[in-house]
Amino acid sequence: MPGFELFGDLERKEVNDVLDNGVLMRYGFDGMRNGHWKAKELEEELQNSFKTNHVQLVSSGTAAVSVALASAGVGAGDEVIMPTFTFVASFEAIMMLGAIPVLVDIDDTLTLDPKAVENAITDKTKAVMIVQMCGSMGNMNALQKICTKHNLLFVEDACQAIGGSYEGKPLGSIADLGCFSFDFVKTITCGEGGAVITNNPEYYKNADHYSDHGHDHVGSDRGAETHPFLGYNFRISELHAAVGLAQVKRLPEFIAIQKKNYTILREAITGIPGVTFRKVPEGGEESYAFLNFFLPDLEVARKTSKALKSNGVDVCWNYYDNNWHYIRKWDHLKSQKSLFPLSSEMKQALENLKNKSFEQSDHYIGRNISCLIKLSWTDAEVKERASNMASSITKALES
Ligand SMILES: *Cc1c(COP(=O)(O)O)cnc(C)c1O
Repeated sequence: MPGFELFGDLERKEVNDVLDNGVLMRYGFDGMRNGHWKAKELEEELQNSFKTNHVQLVSSGTAAVSVALASAGVGAGDEVIMPTFTFVASFEAIMMLGAIPVLVDIDDTLTLDPKAVENAITDKTKAVMIVQMCGSMGNMNALQKICTKHNLLFVEDACQAIGGSYEGKPLGSIADLGCFSFDFVKTITCGEGGAVITNNPEYYKNADHYSDHGHDHVGSDRGAETHPFLGYNFRISELHAAVGLAQVKRLPEFIAIQKKNYTILREAITGIPGVTFRKVPEGGEESYAFLNFFLPDLEVARKTSKALKSNGVDVCWNYYDNNWHYIRKWDHLKSQKSLFPLSSEMKQALENLKNKSFEQSDHYIGRNISCLIKLSWTDAEVKERASNMASSITKALES
């Protein structure tokens, strides 16, 4: 997945453009910047790549989720349904607005189970956030139907699935609002950065103002601009946007490399009795950022994980005991380790979460192995990795 593996002259040229004129900020300083508007250019590139009307760049993927929710009016006391398997950023971004994260089970897609979503809806539910984990997607039609039926906002965190698609539409562009991260380990990187994408002009205008202290961005004198509503600072810098501008142009190349490497690894382990693959919904195409497969049970998955490591196959994980991606180890969330006081509604919700079990999620995450697909592997390295993967899995299954 990581774009940082492939860095070169394109990135250097874009960054030097910014350094040469000295305007590191994305807004204002029109006279000094010699026509360089890297953030604006990157937003246009992303509009084209993701076939979407509006793009707002922000400072991170986490910021993108907060800005997306805020732009659609989600806030204090509103419940946002999210999956048990994701990155901690999901609940952080929700809680930053005073909104309440409601965690629900995943299914064999490794994303939200539509049935679990429907069961979690209350009269406080405002939004459903799908997280397209590990390069693939949930059942978008089923989830959209539920959101439409219950009049809920549908948000898509596509931070880990940039370049994938569903029924011909780029992931991130399907729900009401989509979020991307361009942090250092994502498929394309800005160093740090993120984006909100939407076809809704009102949400876009809100995201544009909210991410820059409420600035209305009317006219050419920043100091004279008005503030129609409260905002915050989630701006991206021109330096970061410049890196992203070079990287986004290479996205098709990155996806093609991922697909090639993914296919070699997948073919090597296809047919091993006991190995099944993560379900990709009909009409979906993965971004090939990860290869995900299931083993018969947690014990075999743990053995496999160990065998892979000792055979030199790195960047493969069983997320069951992972601190950052799965609810089991989110003790800081369940025990409310907050630096500042939380609202009584939030405390109640987190108290409820503490006593909840997620057997269906455990069933899938416990048996899953997720292997990152790198861009920098040589053909020989991929072949060696494929054969080591197959033998490690076979050994673990037999022992
Ligand atoms: C990386 C990631 C984020 C957060 O992005 P940052 O840019 O690191 O803040 C959010 N959601 C998912 C699924 C991610 O993988």
